[in-house]
Amino acid sequence: MALPKTLNEGYRRFLRDRHAPDRGRYIQLAELGQAPTAMVIACCDARIDVSAIFDVEAGELFILRNVANLVPNYEPDGKHHGTSAAIEFAVQELKVPHLIVLGHSNCGGIEAYRQKVRNKVPERGFLGSWLTLLDGLKIVESDGFTYGDETAFELAGVRSSLVKLRNFPFVRKREKAGLLALHGLHFDLASGSLLALNESDGSFASLGGA
Ligand SMILES: [Zn+2]
Repeated sequence: MALPKTLNEGYRRFLRDRHAPDRGRYIQLAELGQAPTAMVIACCDARIDVSAIFDVEAGELFILRNVANLVPNYEPDGKHHGTSAAIEFAVQELKVPHLIVLGHSNCGGIEAYRQKVRNKVPERGFLGSWLTLLDGLKIVESDGFTYGDETAFELAGVRSSLVKLRNFPFVRKREKAGLLALHGLHFDLASGSLLALNESDGSFASLGGA
């Protein structure tokens, strides 16, 4: 099976319009390695284009995407923890100065979890077990949303991921040393608005957008 035509054509445009004119920088990236400004943990959702949201070029962000932008529990048990491995690499090896959890509106993963809680649907497969990371989520009424509102769950998911990040000893250590800053953000697809978590009082405030 051939690649979809749109991807084939897109790749050709990328080579012509972006890679060729910027060849020097790509060669430099290849030779010097990566030194990203931040690691971003975002959702797999096809509509969440992290590089576009922050208007960055290749090499600027170390992006990990998983269903619902979740951080797993710290479980050094020798099993296959993809998200934990990426966090470890970014913090320990790349020594990123910023770690960002980027939630988003209309999140299918969060909605699936909400439906599961509401309808008491038994968890199934990898996805069901992944979403149990949201169990015990604390919904904050002061966000202006009522329990059951999807946005409230999305914001609570971001808060929960930050808490879980701090369960990783190397994250805690670098943050305590002032070498790593943690950030919680929420992007609204329709308006483009970006909310940032203020950890001193737990509230989310707009960084701009409609
Ligand atoms: Zn999502």
